[in-house]
Amino acid sequence: MIDLHTHLDLYPNALDILDRVNRENLFTLAVTTSPRAWVATSKVFKRHNNIKVALGLHPEVADQKFNELELLLSSIHKVDFVGEVGIDGSARYSKTLSKQELIFESTIRECEKAGGRIISIHSRGAVSKILSSIRTYKNCGTPILHWFSGSVEELTTAIRMKCYFSVNPVMISSEKGKELISRIPYNLVLPESDGPFAKLAGRPVMPWEAMNICSDLSRIWQMPIELVKNIIEQNFKKLLQEMQVIV
Ligand SMILES: [Zn+2]
Repeated sequence: MIDLHTHLDLYPNALDILDRVNRENLFTLAVTTSPRAWVATSKVFKRHNNIKVALGLHPEVADQKFNELELLLSSIHKVDFVGEVGIDGSARYSKTLSKQELIFESTIRECEKAGGRIISIHSRGAVSKILSSIRTYKNCGTPILHWFSGSVEELTTAIRMKCYFSVNPVMISSEKGKELISRIPYNLVLPESDGPFAKLAGRPVMPWEAMNICSDLSRIWQMPIELVKNIIEQNFKKLLQEMQVIV
């Protein structure tokens, strides 16, 4: 099992599920919402070899955590993975938009300076902004657009720019999600849970359930599930190879 985007530190029973996540998943990327959370989580998860902690500053808390930006920027050279970062263009966060944009831009500029990083990106209502920043800092690394919810046109541009897309079981259960996913080339799809935020039937999606997307993918792609799993695993390997990350 593989999960490229989970808020593992935010599950109410995080410490109780760590062993299971580490055992069942070949690889789990635990994204964080603030640089200080990254420091704390990295300490707690240290002994779990299959779990990697990404350095993040979530756009929804851009205002509250703005004073941690320096810690974020000065830590990028130490990590392979950055996330969750991005911009949220929905009305609820419009007041903090300029702060969000400043944080995102300076983060990917720093990623470029550091030689490129694997970056898990939140792009709700802000895909065009995200893509134009990535174009500006085109050596920032490998962007993974997590839970993509933009338009078909934006999707097409992101595909042309060779972004990856991490897809979760909630996204793939909606009609819009299925429609978007059907347009993504096989070699750019990765699995995520986005738990505990992503919920199915009122229950958080667990990190070992991220790969459940394969059954829906097998219907969308019209190919046997074993082949789907194979493609997803190859995509994951290629992602690491491109950025020369060894896990
Ligand atoms: Zn998330």
